[in-house]
Amino acid sequence: MTSSLAGESSNPLLEAWTGPFEIPPFAAIKPEHFSPALDVALQQARAEIAAIAANPEPPSFENTILAFERSGETLSRVSSAFFNLSSADTNDILQAVEREIAPLLSRYRSEIYLNEALFARIKALYDSRETLALGPEEARVLERYYLNFTRNGAGLAPKTKARLAAISERLATLGTNFSQNVLADEKAFVLVLEGGDELAGLPDWLISASAANANERGFPGKYAITLSRSSIEPFLQFSARRDLREKAFKAWAARGENGGETDNCAIAAEMVRLRAERAKLLGYASFAHFRLADRMAKTPEAALGLLNSVWTPARARALREEADLREIIVSEGGNFDVAPWDWRYYAEKRRKAEFDLDEGETKPYIQLDQMIEAVFYTANRLFGLSFEERSDIPLYHRDARSWTVRDRDGKPKALFIGDYYARASKRSGAWMTSFKDQQKLDGEQLPIIVNVLNFAKGGENEACLLSFDDARTLFHEFGHALHGMLSDVTYPMIAGTRVPGDFVEFPSQIYENWLEQPEILRRFAVHHKTGEPLPEALLQKILAARQFNQGFATVEYTACALVDMNLHLETETDKIEIAGFEKAELEKLGMPDSIVMRHRTPHFQHIFSGDGYSAGYYSYLWSEVLDSDGFDAFVEKADIFDPATAQKLYEFVYSAGNSRSPDEAYEKFRGRDPKPGPLLRKRGLLEQVN
Ligand SMILES: [Zn+2]
Repeated sequence: MTSSLAGESSNPLLEAWTGPFEIPPFAAIKPEHFSPALDVALQQARAEIAAIAANPEPPSFENTILAFERSGETLSRVSSAFFNLSSADTNDILQAVEREIAPLLSRYRSEIYLNEALFARIKALYDSRETLALGPEEARVLERYYLNFTRNGAGLAPKTKARLAAISERLATLGTNFSQNVLADEKAFVLVLEGGDELAGLPDWLISASAANANERGFPGKYAITLSRSSIEPFLQFSARRDLREKAFKAWAARGENGGETDNCAIAAEMVRLRAERAKLLGYASFAHFRLADRMAKTPEAALGLLNSVWTPARARALREEADLREIIVSEGGNFDVAPWDWRYYAEKRRKAEFDLDEGETKPYIQLDQMIEAVFYTANRLFGLSFEERSDIPLYHRDARSWTVRDRDGKPKALFIGDYYARASKRSGAWMTSFKDQQKLDGEQLPIIVNVLNFAKGGENEACLLSFDDARTLFHEFGHALHGMLSDVTYPMIAGTRVPGDFVEFPSQIYENWLEQPEILRRFAVHHKTGEPLPEALLQKILAARQFNQGFATVEYTACALVDMNLHLETETDKIEIAGFEKAELEKLGMPDSIVMRHRTPHFQHIFSGDGYSAGYYSYLWSEVLDSDGFDAFVEKADIFDPATAQKLYEFVYSAGNSRSPDEAYEKFRGRDPKPGPLLRKRGLLEQVN
């Protein structure tokens, strides 16, 4: 790496971080610091690993696994700081560093996994694990080490290992390009509205949020709709101008598929090819088989079984919903079929007609600040946590906020950072991440956990108002945050959210259930101007409409999960062409013309920006089986905060990290295996359930 800082001898990224919770010193960090700091951190980490591998002592848990767990400390804190900033508040310099370091980090990881001396030590320990008298956590950590190494090619022939390393490095570069391209396409489109008829149908809060948007984007006095979900979705829901809805929707659906420099089709195709090749080198039938072998589902067939069992009733229900929407169009004198840019608009009308429920009516009661309080209150009732906002910690952006989190005894447990508003420098979507994870290798290390969301900021001096879906996302991400903050294990390898991908959505999705409880809504859904609580009739309408439009939502999601899985089951990938593959798959499924995948393949960041959810988008549904069935444990006790159930949820899920297999963790929490009935009932996909 070549960046240097003329005239500056010190780099704050490499000094001791002495602020509260050892938070990165954001005020002193400049984008230019990252490249040289990562250079030094990589060198240090390499030296530490080399020392472990070359240790003349026979391998022991302490001199191999524990030493490994202690290694790379600088690298982990500098790279956490980097990736947090490059997702939540990026700029040209950070983007350039990202392109530069993605392959370097991949090369470093490959070196570790393909280090023969190191693997020999781990294998020797693993082979003699029965005789080592390890505690249960240590045994689990050793098992995970062995599995990680073998799943990354340790023990294979040198030529195979070299090819695997080259594949990983290329995938890292492609993944980075993929996300940067989506961000570029999102930035490039703004629908600027002049006012008057162009605003037809838009509620006041959306008009003022769009005015704020326009101001920020350099169109003062006008109104801007962007491709951020919090801007485009309500626009599609409310705009009476069919031509403008079409224009905005088409831009939204075409992200990553606009030809030219930011087109992602070739990138995605190459990634699918490389993943298939990697799986084959590792001895698996397909990438999906490789991926699922270390998931709760275990096989692609198990995941597909669940997806298909939901797809058929969901599609049938969506077609009935479409017919209802078409009826509204006809009744208004229209003579056209429901197009994808019509669905949200007419669904909103249908919701109004059938449930007398208007999102414009509920939104003034759902304020971001109150919902943050609701999320904290729930954590307090379930786990005894308390939250105190800090004003003394400089963060990376003026809109980010932080809280000290304390346990039942008032002892600090974590620092929580909430970064809630959409901006051009932020990736779309919502996520939880960390600056530091919990562990106890050398005394308790408290975690710094972050939630990043993309809510449209309210106008000047106005509250930020959320849709019910936005509030659900807030609860979801906070469920992940709790998984990180409540983590109570010794080893970083198994801390917090480092659990299999189809289990990791369980703690987040089960948390969404509390939002829908009357007890929470009565308390926290209060009008942003009058402070009056949500009228009881409106609350009942919200609850009654819970299954509304679930055919659409399930189809929109499940189509993505099926395309993802089938794409990664492909073995003949030489000529794979992304747009054609997607089209053929959707035809096979009988995808309704009026619905477009929630994430079309050319901007499907879950599966192409990095590796996390590839052949893994089904995880949300898999975890939903667990969360629907799991929340029933509270319902059965007739107490949504039942202390004994909350204690089990804490002990076996939120605090447990990956200290036991997900099957065992769930069984210990629930007292039995999960059942799919509650999921189907919740989505209204089962006519009758006993
Ligand atoms: Zn999630």
